[in-house]
Amino acid sequence: MVESKRVIIVGIPGVGKTTIVSKVVDILKEKKISVSVFIFGTVMFDEAKKTKGIQSRDDLRKLTVREQKDLQSMAAKKIASITDEAVIVDTHAFISTKEGFYPGLPHNVLEILMPDSFIMITARPEEIYNRRMKDSTRNRDIVSIDAIKKELDVTSAMLSTCSILCGSPIKMVLNTEGKIDEAAKGIVSAMGFNNGT
Ligand code: ATP
Ligand code: MG
Repeated sequence: MVESKRVIIVGIPGVGKTTIVSKVVDILKEKKISVSVFIFGTVMFDEAKKTKGIQSRDDLRKLTVREQKDLQSMAAKKIASITDEAVIVDTHAFISTKEGFYPGLPHNVLEILMPDSFIMITARPEEIYNRRMKDSTRNRDIVSIDAIKKELDVTSAMLSTCSILCGSPIKMVLNTEGKIDEAAKGIVSAMGFNNGT
């Protein structure tokens, strides 16, 4: 059996992770590569609905850190059991909580997921700001452009530590306005699925 390629894709809310990942899946399926995608927050939310009675995915970050920690471990175990050729995890390097920036990928979660590589999606802060403002399907926190710059910095700081802990590389992918295909191709290539097929 072929070993799974496990990739963790991180980026701040509204940067475009889920949009790009769905394009990556289209490309991989065309290449007949079996792929599964887990939006980490959705896996946590499915569990939280059953056990904590919360109604919205965007309420997850309002749970206590302890509760979020337990939900993270449960989600990681579920994802680790999947053996497709490509396993993609769409998540945040940190979550803004009352207590401060809480890691989306604490050590115990990384040990369970054992990713081969990390991808950080970035974009111009002004574009991220506009994407958050325009997307009425979600209930994102609206913050200033300066605060978005800070979030990008915290993401790369958190991700460096993840890379060192796992010994797995980080690739930065820029999600330029209107250029989703380009960003998606960059990810497929970083995953090593661009040759031949
Ligand atoms: P979250 O972490 O909150 O789930 P996300 O990183 O998954 O956010 P998306 O939901 O994929 O972000 O994208 C946010 C919004 O930005 C969506 O409305 C999406 O259509 C738009 N968007 C994403 N990438 C681009 C792009 N390259 N050009 C234009 N619009 C984009
Ligand atoms: Mg998303």
